[in-house]
Amino acid sequence: MKIEFRNVSFHYPGDANVLNDVSFVIESDQMTSIIGPNGSGKSTIAKLIMGLIEPNSGHIYIDDVLLNKDSINDIRHKMGIIFQNPDNQFVGVTVLDDIAFGLENRNIPRKEMLELIQYYSKLVKMENFLESNPENLSGGQKQRVAIAGVLAMNPETIIFDEATSMLDPIGVKEINETMKMLKKTAKKTIISITHNIEEVLYSEKIIVINNGIIIYSGTPKEVLSNVKLLETAKLDTIDTIKLINKLDNVDEETKELLWELTFKM
Ligand code: ADP
Repeated sequence: MKIEFRNVSFHYPGDANVLNDVSFVIESDQMTSIIGPNGSGKSTIAKLIMGLIEPNSGHIYIDDVLLNKDSINDIRHKMGIIFQNPDNQFVGVTVLDDIAFGLENRNIPRKEMLELIQYYSKLVKMENFLESNPENLSGGQKQRVAIAGVLAMNPETIIFDEATSMLDPIGVKEINETMKMLKKTAKKTIISITHNIEEVLYSEKIIVINNGIIIYSGTPKEVLSNVKLLETAKLDTIDTIKLINKLDNVDEETKELLWELTFKM
């Protein structure tokens, strides 16, 4: 699913602009990360894509169709979102019920539904927890169940809205592995909103936002080798990248090799 913002501005009622004349393209079947400090407007972009709020000016096109009241229902069916708080995503008494919820709403026959639940719970490595009470799962496991529930609906686009920010390091790793697996195996458009720099390493494109303005957009290498940009956007960076950026005495070929190793999936 191709998502295009053309000169989008947005403000919450009574407030100043949260997004200022924002334009970008998210290409179909790619992974795009949106990064920037807290309060820069990232989640507002997610809400606009989902059609939960409308731009005050400018336009959003989904697969070249203008997002408006007439098109939103069709488009929303093709999208899924994983939110920040794993505890707010559960509706079922068991993991199975939970993954089943969306499918039941779509009147999928029971046999087919159980097959889909088996398939997607296995994909996120939660097939042995189907009868478990979601309350007893770790944060990372809860998020993986939420991902299975979204995948079972077969969306074209999945938005991860700070999906790892409340998880412990093991949970973050589990979700990162799941995202990588999705990128490799599923033909999906993935949007990752994050301030975890490790999550952006394997995206095709990174959009950097600060104070409601897109300050840069490029490949992980372009963004992460731009020390000034990272400082402006108050983004921390991982040690390997800090190191590569500091290597003055190393020839370009070795530097290139180090970058390749860093981005190797
Ligand atoms: P980010 O996701 O980058 O942290 P947000 O898009 O959540 O940023 O928020 C951008 C700005 O909009 C912040 O200043 C935030 O306080 C404000 N904001 C977010 N949601 C609302 C809301 N529902 N009503 C009023 N202001 C909001």
